[in-house]
Amino acid sequence: MASGHTVLMRLVASAYSIAQKAGTIVRRVIAEGDLGIVEKTSPTDLQTKADRLAQMSICSSLARKFPKLTIIGEEDLPSEDVDQELIEDGQWEEILRKPCPAQYSAIKEEDLVVWVDPLDGTKEYTEGLLDNVTVLIGIAYEGKAIAGVINQPYYNYQAGPGAALGRTIWGVLGLGAFGFQLKEVPAGKHIITTTRSHSNKLVTDCVTAMNPDDVLRVGGAGNKIIQLIEGKASAYVFASPGCKKWDTCAPEVILHAVGGKLTDVHGNALQYDKEVKHMNSAGVLASLRNHDYYASRVPESVKNALVP
Ligand code: AMP
Ligand code: MG
Ligand code: MG
Repeated sequence: MASGHTVLMRLVASAYSIAQKAGTIVRRVIAEGDLGIVEKTSPTDLQTKADRLAQMSICSSLARKFPKLTIIGEEDLPSEDVDQELIEDGQWEEILRKPCPAQYSAIKEEDLVVWVDPLDGTKEYTEGLLDNVTVLIGIAYEGKAIAGVINQPYYNYQAGPGAALGRTIWGVLGLGAFGFQLKEVPAGKHIITTTRSHSNKLVTDCVTAMNPDDVLRVGGAGNKIIQLIEGKASAYVFASPGCKKWDTCAPEVILHAVGGKLTDVHGNALQYDKEVKHMNSAGVLASLRNHDYYASRVPESVKNALVP
């Protein structure tokens, strides 16, 4: 270890800077005004120029520094030389000053799998709901999500002049999560956050069964986990296939690092090894506290419809 830092901490420190760079790309594409929208599998499954450029930037920057990593990105892109201007070489020094949890200190580069969602909340991005958007870089070891970075490019964008635009949240299991103030919904209140653009009867049946005091419908898996850790929602309920490993890997780590839990609707942990299927077929159930309560309220009809 020439640098004196572990592979994991060097990777997280680089992923932080790389996610920040991706955030600037996401903002630049809007500012330039040409979103270049492409429909993937349906009218609510979109890709923009920002998704493409951000993924090229993230994956190429990671692969240059860490050539033995397995990197799995959401977008299917032709392999072509990436413009040097998209490459980020920096690393966030504050992360390198933290200790690597002992159980991860001997991890080798080739043992890590990185799940990349270059732009989570694309549908909302195209509709101008900009603070729903996040850039997600999740890191897995032995099938488990262990480290993650979330950049929110438009955090504070409605806060007026003087407010710093954008932020980056990061975390490592056994070390903690940083870049936000942990807050909880008042005890006893059930505020459910769920999809706004990918709903169906199963999703609404499951949300109703939670006996919610309030329901928030917002875009993005990353955004919904931020709502959980900042005390805006108590559970994220998505009883449908559609969400993929790159949507849940980084958010799961941030939530787990502060004592929360993310599972499928059956209460089972998600797997992140490189051979796993990408789709979270049995949905997503996440909460900061009282996971057992939310899992116990999922109707049998919903569980029977969502096979892992
Ligand atoms: P949402 O809560 O609707 O923003 O979804 C969270 C993540 O899962 C986003 O990345 C969505 O693109 C993805 N997702 C959820 N449902 C679907 C679907 N039916 N088709 C494609 N992507 C989906
Ligand atoms: Mg996504
Ligand atoms: Mg995406």
